[in-house]
Amino acid sequence: MKNYIQLYINGDWVASTGDQTLTVVNPANSEVVAQVPAATVDDVDSAVKAAKKAFANFSATSSAYRAGLIHKIADVMEARKDELIQAIVNSMGCPVAFADDIQVQGAIDSFRSFADLAGELDKQEQHDAFITVHEAIGVCVLINPWNYPLSQLVGKLGPALAAGCTVVIKPAEQTPLQDLILADIIHQCDVPDGVVNVLTGVGRDIGEALCSHPDVDMVSFTGSTLAGIKVAQAAAPTVKRVCQELGGKSPYIIAPGADLNAAVKYGVEDIMINSGQTCSALTRMLVPRDVLSEVEHIALNMVSAWTPGDPNNPDTLMGPLSSKLQQERVLTYIDAGIKEGARLLCGGKKLPEYLKNGAYVMPTIFSDVTPNMTIAREEIFGPVLCIIPYGSLDEAIQIANDTVYGLSSAVYATDKEQALKIAAQLKAGQCLIQGAYFNTHAPFGGYKQSGNGREWGVEGLKEYTETKAIIFQ
Ligand code: NAD
Repeated sequence: MKNYIQLYINGDWVASTGDQTLTVVNPANSEVVAQVPAATVDDVDSAVKAAKKAFANFSATSSAYRAGLIHKIADVMEARKDELIQAIVNSMGCPVAFADDIQVQGAIDSFRSFADLAGELDKQEQHDAFITVHEAIGVCVLINPWNYPLSQLVGKLGPALAAGCTVVIKPAEQTPLQDLILADIIHQCDVPDGVVNVLTGVGRDIGEALCSHPDVDMVSFTGSTLAGIKVAQAAAPTVKRVCQELGGKSPYIIAPGADLNAAVKYGVEDIMINSGQTCSALTRMLVPRDVLSEVEHIALNMVSAWTPGDPNNPDTLMGPLSSKLQQERVLTYIDAGIKEGARLLCGGKKLPEYLKNGAYVMPTIFSDVTPNMTIAREEIFGPVLCIIPYGSLDEAIQIANDTVYGLSSAVYATDKEQALKIAAQLKAGQCLIQGAYFNTHAPFGGYKQSGNGREWGVEGLKEYTETKAIIFQ
């Protein structure tokens, strides 16, 4: 076990003003991995003060300097990649190959993309009687969940630094380690004091202090819709910008005539990756009723590759869920699916003996799911696929949009033209067509209760700015 005893505030490692700690547990075997400090409301105040003090100078630096800083940090992240990978494997049970490729290398590459975008903010938009400029918004609080802990961190830190903002970061309770390593990297890279502050802590204890602090200008929050609402409520009296990236229940329409093998393989992979703990996961697979049994057959074949196992084995595709609590939540949903009459094709509540120490859930597929079942309406956040049969494409689109969420969606049709027509009718922030993958240059964010604002790409960068119009006489 490793003890991290300090928080990173104002360019220095300092003790918390409190004496509480958080325990990080490896969900693959229930062993304790680390203890980290639980920051207090007083620590929040110190970190925000440091960020406020640093803002005046940092926001006045050139975009070229900030781009260079992002690359410098990314270079050290590459050099310390193994530490970052191990932090993610040990704290969330992520399979090592996935942690390496997607959770860490993918995150470093995406972080660098903001260095390339920093210059965008130097561009003034010229109009006949005015010019429009974009300026750093100020002190930003960055709050993240545990499922893609480094990607979500750099998806906020990258644009904040590129824009010239200063930040106070709070990682999820379950996965604070990569944030502490990043703080050390920030220190190693001589980032000016106070530009980046990292507080490990409990959301419900310090969340309100972070989000209501009068010196904070913006909160970027990724997590559950419930916590996202609390964040917005705490931020409202001081009229902060709140960027919310929340839950989802994303539909995936397989249109009549689509290549079923390719389409079903894509859908099964999408839900099983990261043990189903992906906010944009395509959890509802809508398929023409007349090919339902063929789809089931293909899905069962495909899922056999996803046998859960030891995350440290490079061949393992699926690890445990992030915690025993998450395992319990997912098993409760599986129970609800069975009780409400969905047909269980594979998986379910039973676990093989060798997985019983960890927070594992077997890859689970339900068929004959109807749109009103709990498993078709609520976010499960586990490796559980719901196959929903439909009669006509109009019905499929109606079912797809019949949700309080609107984070992502996907279509596999006979060709791109048909897919584009269907995509235009889906109420979601993204639509992946014909087997496309997440793209960190494209804006990401939700319609409806999946959130407000966008991350990634130029839109993600501009969230961290205020727009000013300078008007001529
Ligand atoms: P969570 O909401 O419980 O926690 C997320 C973060 O919020 C943690 O850091 C937590 O400490 C903090 N938090 C909790 N209560 C808070 C409060 N009152 N004030 C301020 N901060 C608070 O979510 P989780 O269980 O860690 O993550 C899973 C959820 O995140 C899922 O619903 C998933 O869909 C969502 N998610 C969304 C996206 C996206 O981009 N839309 C990405 C990943 C995960």
